[in-house]
Amino acid sequence: MTNGEVYTNRLRQSVRAYKGLLEFAFALIPAVAVGYIFLFTDDNAVFRDYLAHELAIGLAVILSGFIALITWRCHLASREPFLRWLALGFAGFTLVYLPHGVLTRSADHNIWLFLLYGPAARLTMMACLTIGLLNMGRPVTPANPAQDRRFWMTGLVTFFVIDIAVGLLASFPMGGEPWVRISLESGALALMLVSVGILLWKQPGSPLLRIFLISLLVFAQSSVAFMLLAKAWDHQWWLAHTIFAAGFLLLSYGVVQAYLTSGSFVAVYSTEEMVNQLRQEKDRAEDALSRLEAANSKLHKLATTDALTGLGNRRHFTDQAERMLQRTRLDRLPCALLMLDLDHFKTINDTYGHATGDLMLNHFTALLSETLRPEDLCGRFGGEEFMVLLPNCLPSDARVVAERIRTKLESTPLIRGGETALSITTSIGIAHSGTDGDTLDALLKRADARLYAAKALGRNCVLDQDSAIADAT
Ligand code: GH3
Ligand code: MG
Ligand code: MG
Repeated sequence: MTNGEVYTNRLRQSVRAYKGLLEFAFALIPAVAVGYIFLFTDDNAVFRDYLAHELAIGLAVILSGFIALITWRCHLASREPFLRWLALGFAGFTLVYLPHGVLTRSADHNIWLFLLYGPAARLTMMACLTIGLLNMGRPVTPANPAQDRRFWMTGLVTFFVIDIAVGLLASFPMGGEPWVRISLESGALALMLVSVGILLWKQPGSPLLRIFLISLLVFAQSSVAFMLLAKAWDHQWWLAHTIFAAGFLLLSYGVVQAYLTSGSFVAVYSTEEMVNQLRQEKDRAEDALSRLEAANSKLHKLATTDALTGLGNRRHFTDQAERMLQRTRLDRLPCALLMLDLDHFKTINDTYGHATGDLMLNHFTALLSETLRPEDLCGRFGGEEFMVLLPNCLPSDARVVAERIRTKLESTPLIRGGETALSITTSIGIAHSGTDGDTLDALLKRADARLYAAKALGRNCVLDQDSAIADAT
């Protein structure tokens, strides 16, 4: 690893640690409100507003019922055991918190009937959440409607039993003992802290579990706040409720995120991980694309090139020549087409073998390449037949080029590994754009006829006019 990389890694670790600290600091913001309750509670000040309380609890109940439903839908999507317990926890909170709102006005004759449902709801929810956390690493369970129904029925019946039990407790004199409320609240607080411990121990990578961790810390502070409230209708009851609501809303935000993404709470990746994965996938896609492009160009080369000589094949030459003719026609430039055929090539094959024939074809190709200009087109039409298109070339110049090829071949024998030098000649037919036609087809026909005539005239010659054809026939 280079010094630069070491530095980048260290910086990244520091930024990650700073992020953890920020989250922790964020989770401890409610401590300010708790401190406020602790310092500024006035035993004589009360804030008794039934309607405000009923509205606040009503809103909380509707919200937690809704979130229970969304969490359950997440569970159905991902089948994560944790989400099942989270959904049940929200449902439990909804059902046990409901009497806390409904019985607000009973505070006049039995304050405990009204008061105890608050901590009982928090304790019920935390019991489910703690069980959910203990179930977190367990494998995903397959869908089982009968089992699901049993789970929910057991849960809902338990919550009704809790509702009745809390009601009964409140109606006994013992229920009015302050330690009952404090015990319920400290039970909830203890479970919150246990859950925080479990989460820290499990080191959650998922951002949703980090949100859950922050919510738990906020819940714990709300429980402390509730314990600090000296009596019913303490003028700061709304502040303790607000702290709990903050934790609850944050957790519901996590649930909504899960619902809108993978339906999972545990397997959702952090933004950092997602960006990394995206980067890797992008690299992979780019790599695959460049390999595909390389394969495509190889395929294109194979489809357009003659394997022996490396020249363009018949189809490729025809395509290119047609395009070139079109261009030169537009520019009104003269063009010449040369059709070349090696003379008595079959004799080379028959006398020296096919391999020597191949060497001769390559020998001729090399010679053609040396003689032609870069802008000239050259292709192997088949067998020992070649084509050359000379753009921007006057008829007299085309003849000079053809003669140069012919004489060069005639005077350049093929030397085979120190053995005998083999000579060969070529016959060439030429057609000119304009006078012989404008299309490639027309030019090919004329050049072919002249080549045929050149053969008839005794080979090793160049023919660029039809008058010679008459002589030949
Ligand atoms: P002409 O002067 O009339 O053109 O006579 P020729 O012998 O050159 O013409 P012919 O058409 O009779 O023979 C062409 C030979 O070229 C026949 C064929 O086997 C051979 N040939 C075609 N393709 C290849 C190839 O790729 N390699 C080799 N070695 N020979 C080939
Ligand atoms: Mg031939
Ligand atoms: Mg031939």
